[in-house]
Amino acid sequence: MDTIYLDNNATTKTDPKVLEEMIPYFCDKYGNPSSIYKMAHTSHDAIEESRKTLCEFFGANKKDEIYFTSCGTESANMAIRGILSANKNKKHIITTKVEHPCVLNLYKELEKEGYKTDYITVDNNGELNLEELKQKVTNDTVLVSIMAANNETGAIYPYEEASEIVKSINKDTYFFVDAVQAAGKIKLDVKNTKVDLMGISGHKFHAPKGIGALYIKNGTRINPLIVGGHQEKALRAGTENVPYIVGLKKAAELAQNALEFENKEVKRLRDKLEEGILSNVKNAKLNSRTSKRVPNTTNIGFEYIEGELILLHFDELNICASSGSACTSGSLEPSHVLRAMHTPFTSLHGSIRFSLSRFTTEDEIDYAIENIPKAIKKLAKISPFQKELTALLGE
Ligand code: PLP
Repeated sequence: MDTIYLDNNATTKTDPKVLEEMIPYFCDKYGNPSSIYKMAHTSHDAIEESRKTLCEFFGANKKDEIYFTSCGTESANMAIRGILSANKNKKHIITTKVEHPCVLNLYKELEKEGYKTDYITVDNNGELNLEELKQKVTNDTVLVSIMAANNETGAIYPYEEASEIVKSINKDTYFFVDAVQAAGKIKLDVKNTKVDLMGISGHKFHAPKGIGALYIKNGTRINPLIVGGHQEKALRAGTENVPYIVGLKKAAELAQNALEFENKEVKRLRDKLEEGILSNVKNAKLNSRTSKRVPNTTNIGFEYIEGELILLHFDELNICASSGSACTSGSLEPSHVLRAMHTPFTSLHGSIRFSLSRFTTEDEIDYAIENIPKAIKKLAKISPFQKELTALLGE
C-alpha cells in the first residue's frame, strides 16, 4: 500500500488542477503587477480576478475587502497586530484557550507588551463557553479572536453568534476569526455576521504552501504589519506572489464546488474510520463528541499508550496522522487543546488526530481500519500500564 495520508489538517496535497493554472505565471506571464506595460496588466488582472473569487469564497460584500498574505499565521498576525496598532487607547483582548499557536503565542507576546488578556474555556467536548465570553467583554475590550474550527478536534465554533454577542456588548470591539481549518470544509459567510476580519491559508485546501488571505471589512481601523510599497492598498507591502494568488483562486473554486462532496462523502469515510477504530479497539475513546465538527476530522485517544510511539508505528504501516498540531508535535508536551477539554490523563498522551480530504479513498480507509487495531494491540503489550490495560481489555 502506498502512503495513507490522514493528516490533511497539517497540510494538503496541491490539486494538480491548481498547479496547472499556476504554471503560466512563472515563465510566461511573469510581469510585475505594478508596472505599466501590457504584460504587467496580465498579472494585475489575474490578481483582481482572484480577489473576486476569494470575495465569494469568504461570502464578503466587496472584492477590495480581500488581501493576499503568505499563510494563515501571517493573516492572524496582520489582523491582530494591525488592529492593536491602530487602536492603541484600549488594552483588553480576548481569545480562547484552544486557538492555534499563531494566535495563542501572539497573545502571550502581547501580555508582555502590557495587554490584559482573557482566555475563554471549552467543555469536555471542546465546545465554547459563550456565557463566559458575555461576561468578559468590557468597554476596554479592543479585540476578540475566535477560531471557526479547531485544528485538533475539528470542533466548529459558533463565531457568528459569538460576534453578535461581542458587538451587542461593545460595538467598537473588533472581531477576528481564524478560519484556516474551516475553509473548504464549511461555507464561510462574513457578510451575514458581525465579523470584521477573517484569515485563511491555501495549503489547508489544496493550494500550495506560501499563500493565504485576510478579509478586512471596509471601514476597519487597521495599520499594516509589513510596510513598504503600495501593494494591497499599502496594507501588505511587497510584490504580489502572482502564481500562488492564481493557485489560491483555483483552489477556492474547487473547494467551493466540493463542499457538498466534503460534507457527504468525506464525512462518510471519516465516520467509517472512526467507527472502525472505536468498535475494534477497546481502549479507544473519541475526544470531542460534539455533533458540530468539520466533516474530515476525528481525534481518538488510545488509553495508556504513548502517542509518539503510535505515530512511529503508524509510519511503519505507511499511515500518516498526528498528535497535537503539526507546529507543536515533536515536543512531548500534551496538546493544549485536549488539556483545555480536561481530557483524562489516561488518553491525553495517546491521542491521535486523523484528518481526511477529498482525495482520501475507501481502500485507504479499509487499510487503516484493518491495520490500526492490530498496531494498537501490539503496543498495548509493551505499555508500562499492563495492570490497567488488562482490566480494560480483559485479556
Ligand atoms: N490556524 C489554524 C487553526 C491552523 O490549523 C493553522 C495551521 O495548522 C494555522 C492557523 C497556521 O496556518 P499556516 O500554516 O498557513 O501558517
